[in-house]
Amino acid sequence: CGCNREEFPHKIVDLMDGFKASKALFAACKLNVFDVLSVSADLSPKEVAERVKASEEGSARLLDACVSLGLLERRTRDDGDHVYSNTEEASRFLVADSPLSLHGYILHCNDLVWPLFSHLESAVREGTNQYERAFGKKSEDLFQDAYYKKEEVKLRFMNAMHSIAKVSVKDLATAFDLSMFKTACDVGGCTGAMAYEFTQIYPEMSVTVFDLPQVIAMSDRFQPKDQNDRVTFVAGDFFKDPLPKAELYILARILHDWSLEKVHQLLDKLSKECNPGCHVLLAETLLDEGKPKVSRAQLQCLNMLVQTEGRERTSDHYRDILLSSGFHLLRVHYTGNLLDAMFCIKT
Ligand code: SAM
Repeated sequence: CGCNREEFPHKIVDLMDGFKASKALFAACKLNVFDVLSVSADLSPKEVAERVKASEEGSARLLDACVSLGLLERRTRDDGDHVYSNTEEASRFLVADSPLSLHGYILHCNDLVWPLFSHLESAVREGTNQYERAFGKKSEDLFQDAYYKKEEVKLRFMNAMHSIAKVSVKDLATAFDLSMFKTACDVGGCTGAMAYEFTQIYPEMSVTVFDLPQVIAMSDRFQPKDQNDRVTFVAGDFFKDPLPKAELYILARILHDWSLEKVHQLLDKLSKECNPGCHVLLAETLLDEGKPKVSRAQLQCLNMLVQTEGRERTSDHYRDILLSSGFHLLRVHYTGNLLDAMFCIKT
């Protein structure tokens, strides 16, 4: 660029703009812009505005912002009007009913994470989540008190987990060769999205999804069309109830939700319930220095601060935690995806 590199702080200005870019993406998803463009491509701002029930002026600006962010394409029609279409990436990941859609997770970011993040400085001062400040309610247990009290909030959360699980599960399931396991239990497995993918990748494997009764009650809504009978659902509380018996326990995005005390409580309980030789697959966003995209993990750690009682951790920290509950961390794999993988054994 023509500007003086020493006097113009590109990186900082990009970061100052980062929140506007995120919110443009969230607003376009929430208004179903990508969905209407997947039904008919090459729409003018006026046609988009009518379909998403918004102003023409506002829609035109949002569409151009999305073009500049690489989410939409614009071309000029013979009559001189601009028309807009989804990019290939938007068609795959932003249209609500595409198989790998992030739509559910983006709505969760817009409606829940965004208000919580707007209180980040309070979270840093106080060292606690900002649920009460953002939503006026105190939550002792994030899931039972905050997410699952209202049906609509619960479904939004389940949709979010479903969409993000589908994008991350393939790299997780293939991080290690798990073909020797015939039975697995996905602890806190939510909608079963991960469990189905594990049974697709490992045709000999059956997976029991264990989650809270409020979640299991809704699991029918999320079943894939080609469902198989190797995925089953069991309702219970993983801090209180016995876990289904399995050779492999999968804990994906579970430990990061909880304080160290509760992580120990859960792992000690799992350790008592399973036999030596039993394996555990942990999936978390590791804070390990030197891994690719470590800033994403650090930002995710701030996300856990504003939202939960937990945090992201390094693989060394997990190694120590696991050891004190009778598990040995065998291997760590950085997937490059949202979740890294740790393969552990009960000693
Ligand atoms: N494993 C899924 C994934 O990675 O996509 C979902 C992760 S989500 C962050 C945490 C899950 O733990 C939710 O499905 C939640 O319902 C479940 N959970 C929270 N507390 C629980 C409890 N006490 N007993 C059983 N499941 C619980």
